[in-house]
Amino acid sequence: MDETAASLRVNGGEGVWARAVAVETGIRVASCYQCLRCSNSCPVSTFMDIKPHQVVRLVQLGQREALLQASSIWVCLSCEMCSTYCPNEIDVAGLMNHLKNAVISSHREPAEYEIAAFHDVFLRVLREHGRINDLQLMQRYRLKTLMHGQAPSREELVSEASLAWDLFRRGRLRFLPEKSAAAREIRRILEDYGHKKVSS
Ligand code: SF4
Ligand code: SF4
Repeated sequence: MDETAASLRVNGGEGVWARAVAVETGIRVASCYQCLRCSNSCPVSTFMDIKPHQVVRLVQLGQREALLQASSIWVCLSCEMCSTYCPNEIDVAGLMNHLKNAVISSHREPAEYEIAAFHDVFLRVLREHGRINDLQLMQRYRLKTLMHGQAPSREELVSEASLAWDLFRRGRLRFLPEKSAAAREIRRILEDYGHKKVSS
C-alpha cells in the first residue's frame, strides 16, 4: 500500500473517494496537519462557508457531498496563495479546481451559479481567442444567466453600462475580439488544467 492510501484509512465509500481525489490530482491531502496557513493566507476566506484548511480536512474524511455543495469552491479566486504558503506543498488551489470540475462533471447546480457561469464564460472566451474581450465576455455571461432564469437587476445593468462607457471613452473597449498570437498555447494549458463547461 502506498503512502497516500495508508494515510487515508477512512471506512466505506468516503475512503474510496478520498483516495480517488488524491490519486487523480496527485495532491497529497493526507500530509495536511491543519496548521491553517492556507486559510490565513487566503484573501477571500472570510467569505467562504468552508475555509481552505477545512476543505482539505473534509477531503481527507471523504465528505464529498458537503464539499460539492459548498460555495467556497466558487468563491475561490485561484490565486494560489494557499498552495504557496502550505508548508507541506499541498496544492489547495488545485484541490478547489478539482472540486469545481467534480460539480460540473456530476451535472449538479453549482452553489454559486452566477460565479460558476462567469468562470465558465471567461475560460471559454480565453480558450477561443487567447485573450479576453470585455464586451463578448459580458454578453455571453448575461445570455447564460438569462437562459438560467436569472435576469440582472436595473442597478446591475446601469453599473455595467457605465463601466462600458468608461472603458469606451478611454479607448479600452474592443467591439470585436482579437486573437492572441499565443491562443493555441493558452488553449493547451486550459485543456491540461481541465476546464469543463457549466451548463445553462
Ligand atoms: S497550509 Fe497545508 S498543511 Fe496547513 S492546513 Fe493548509 S493544507 Fe494543511
Ligand atoms: S486559491 Fe482560492 S483558496 Fe487558495 S488562497 Fe486563493 S482564493 Fe483562497
